[in-house]
Amino acid sequence: MMPLFYRRSDESLALKCPECGGFYLQFKNIEVFDVDEDDKNDQGLHVSVDHEVASVDRQLDSVMGKRRHGIVIRFICGECAKQSWFKINQHNGNTLVDFSII
Ligand SMILES: [Zn+2]
Repeated sequence: MMPLFYRRSDESLALKCPECGGFYLQFKNIEVFDVDEDDKNDQGLHVSVDHEVASVDRQLDSVMGKRRHGIVIRFICGECAKQSWFKINQHNGNTLVDFSII
């Protein structure tokens, strides 16, 4: 779904929760996926940062499928406690954005 924002009094934008529309989303963890376009062996890199712990592996098919170059930010809502993710990835030369309840 398309991300929605709340305009704060200082003109900055706060991302709204896709479930309740609240704007107290808190970062839960962040993942980065990097796969070379010509890599036939899916030997790309996956980096995850979660609660002050960083891990690096080659688990590329969990969230992004076989798409290359992507970022996933997981949130937890401070109002309704639902979890959501904001994904940015590349596919066929386009940069795709998805914001969904998990
Ligand atoms: Zn919420």
